[in-house]
Amino acid sequence: MRKPTFSPTKLTTYLTCRIKYHWAYMTPYGKWMRRANPAFAFGANLHRALDYFHSVGGAEQLSQEQFHMALERLWSHAGFESNAQSEAYKQTGLELTQQYYQAQAAQPSESVVLFTERMLRRDMGRYVLMGRIDRVDEHPDGTLEIIDYKSGRSDVTEEQVLNDFALHCYALLVQEHYPDRSLWIAIHALRPNKKVAVPVSRETLDEFRELLNQLVAQILDEDWSILNPEWIPECAECEFLELCVRKLGLAHAE
Ligand code: SF4
Repeated sequence: MRKPTFSPTKLTTYLTCRIKYHWAYMTPYGKWMRRANPAFAFGANLHRALDYFHSVGGAEQLSQEQFHMALERLWSHAGFESNAQSEAYKQTGLELTQQYYQAQAAQPSESVVLFTERMLRRDMGRYVLMGRIDRVDEHPDGTLEIIDYKSGRSDVTEEQVLNDFALHCYALLVQEHYPDRSLWIAIHALRPNKKVAVPVSRETLDEFRELLNQLVAQILDEDWSILNPEWIPECAECEFLELCVRKLGLAHAE
């Protein structure tokens, strides 16, 4: 029998609301009720452009104009509510990628890009952990730095990196493929063009792995016949709100 797979997105959905996890991953409503998500579409377009930028050799190989043209060419309207909205986001995307380009050209990194936008999997025993990693850099001493781009944040702090659930999942995935390397995890906030990186120890990853195993065991062993939703702040923006109200009797907050 195929093992169940879990991604950071799936696990984060469960941590936010177990009912939402039920709708999204255990019923067809997950696909039927998928909404246009401009913020997500914006991030996906930027990821594509940065993937291209690094795959062709970065600022050393690409002029600023060529990078600009690449974003125009790679831009997709999918996921936006209208073409006008997509164009507005594209203008912001052009500004952010030009800012990114200029910073890379002004201060070339000593690290090399090992890979970008790669899906990795790790057999965790009872389940398979999987995740798409934005970028991994290799430092001159062999340390690997796992970088997650954030296109919506106006700032990033060390504490946010230390507490980032997805990055710790990515570190477990990279550890499987490069077991002897020291690892760093980093968030690169594209709006302020600020990157914060911190080392992640083997002990921390061992502890995280234990917690992850417990979380997945809880999901797999849940009694999914009991669904009693209670109002949480996330309900207001949730695509499943009407389902929860209609089928499960969720009461709106006062
Ligand atoms: S509406 Fe609220 S309770 Fe229902 S799935 Fe969404 S977040 Fe969860």
